Amino acid sequence: MSQYTTRVIEEMMERNPNQPEFHQAIKEVVESLEPVFEKNPEYKEAGILERIVEPERQIMFRVPWVDDEGNVQVNRGFRVQYNSALGPYKGGLRFHPSVNVGIIKFLGFEQIFKNALTGRPIGGGKGGSDFDPKGKSDGEIMRFCQSFMTELYRHIGPDLDVPAGDIGVGGREIGYLFGQYKRIVNAYEAGVLTGKGLNWGGSLARTEATGYGLVYLVEEMLKEQGDSIADKEVVISGSGNVAIYATEKVQELGGKVVALSDSGGYVYDPEGIKLDTVKEIKEVRRGRIKEYVEEHPSAEFTADSSAIWQIDCDIALPCATQNELNEESAQALVDNDVILVGEGANMPSTPKAIEVFKENSILFAPAKAANAGGVATSAIEMTQNSMRESWTFERVEGTLKGIMINIHKISSQTAKEYGMEGDLAAGANIAGFLKVADAMVEQGVI
Ligand code: NDP
Repeated sequence: MSQYTTRVIEEMMERNPNQPEFHQAIKEVVESLEPVFEKNPEYKEAGILERIVEPERQIMFRVPWVDDEGNVQVNRGFRVQYNSALGPYKGGLRFHPSVNVGIIKFLGFEQIFKNALTGRPIGGGKGGSDFDPKGKSDGEIMRFCQSFMTELYRHIGPDLDVPAGDIGVGGREIGYLFGQYKRIVNAYEAGVLTGKGLNWGGSLARTEATGYGLVYLVEEMLKEQGDSIADKEVVISGSGNVAIYATEKVQELGGKVVALSDSGGYVYDPEGIKLDTVKEIKEVRRGRIKEYVEEHPSAEFTADSSAIWQIDCDIALPCATQNELNEESAQALVDNDVILVGEGANMPSTPKAIEVFKENSILFAPAKAANAGGVATSAIEMTQNSMRESWTFERVEGTLKGIMINIHKISSQTAKEYGMEGDLAAGANIAGFLKVADAMVEQGVI
């Protein structure tokens, strides 16, 4: 590491104490940018790095609501508007008890580069709350979402900041959030949120987009090796939006998904996961993954979600949460001859796990490239909202596929150009950074 990047990282850590996920995300990007500053000193002169690590704006607010027993509850809401060099801030909302400002900042920071990679005109942002949707009634979810939006509405807008879903925020929550926004601003601004319902401004294929996009990118990487997903055994963590639609696309391409998980443990079905059952449990009943074994005796449940990486497989797709795959799990995958790891979740592999993959020449699809299909399709939803049009599923999916193929191409070309052939993580970081940095240089010191 050069003196310059070391200094920027140290200052960032000092200024943002006790935010380990945020430090991790910044270090990962900045370390891979070293050759960029050697080749392009103008970015140093323009203070791009010092500016890009600091969010443009951070909003934190109280979210009071009343539960079904009549008790007043108070949660904390966040929105970090990180970078608007390329377009309005764009990034999801996460509702999970682990949410704090450091987690939202790590996600917002990653979002800048991911959004740049999509080639769409969107800046980076992220938000959420430490509210836990698990076990809450529909009425409680609605009242929480309404209270959350009663503060958030003044900070967002179709040309300003466009939130979407993430962990704990799906179609139901986006509906309640949109309803309250519309009521407060007294206008039908469809482009203010993405992930909307299909008959009120949502886009076909948005629900599927992150999981499908991940698998398109993986297929592209395998294709380069003269290989494909067909007949591969695949382990996927999580059983939420990303995991379910990654499973669907793997199965469509002839692969066999043998395990899925939630925070309570994982199910292993050697005959292949029956996705209809998972959808029924997770999307309809909002139940737990262990219920799967009640309907499929061929499967077994293990009450330790991190042990999912001990399963023998060809492809591993972590699609649950940050730092879910550590060094030991990475080694277990390598020992079982895994050929590819693709990150559906944001920052699911620890830095040590990534080292293990690199040392063993495992094909590695980093989150910023691999899960960009979700936000890319959100941008396509915004396009449809501006045009007051609804595209067909095939048109949206085709556009998404083209974007994922392009992300793979620019990430791998950029890695090669900067002397790191085959390192998609470095290529994605650099390619995303260059787009944002050039825009920041042209827009002056703001
Ligand atoms: P969901 O809330 O739909 O699903 C999250 C899933 O992960 C749930 O099954 C949850 O289980 C499980 N999970 C959470 N923590 C753990 C854990 N420690 N061990 C095992 N399983 C766990 O979220 P999404 O599918 O939308 O998001 C998943 C990941 O993908 C996140 O990192 C998110 O940031 C990222 N992502 C999502 C995008 C999207 O479009 N939705 C876009 C790009 C990235 P449980 O119910 O028990 O908590």
